[in-house]
Amino acid sequence: MTCTDFLSQLTDYFDGKVDPQLLAEVQAHIRECRHCEVVLDTTRQTIAIYRENEIYEFPADLRERLHAAIMKKCNSAR
Ligand SMILES: [Zn+2]
Repeated sequence: MTCTDFLSQLTDYFDGKVDPQLLAEVQAHIRECRHCEVVLDTTRQTIAIYRENEIYEFPADLRERLHAAIMKKCNSAR
């Protein structure tokens, strides 16, 4: 799994829609990739804030912003 694959699964992951095999791959990637671990953490916190404020809809631009941020980090890490 690449960072791009991970990000494409991120919203489904939080919606609990990822199938078990894919979920294992997602979790394996998080263990290997510090950047995606941070993204996951940040996203979890962001979602918690949204839930506290009773905004249930996942922000449409959040994934794109995360994607841009993570790709920048991953690229600069190499
Ligand atoms: Zn990654």
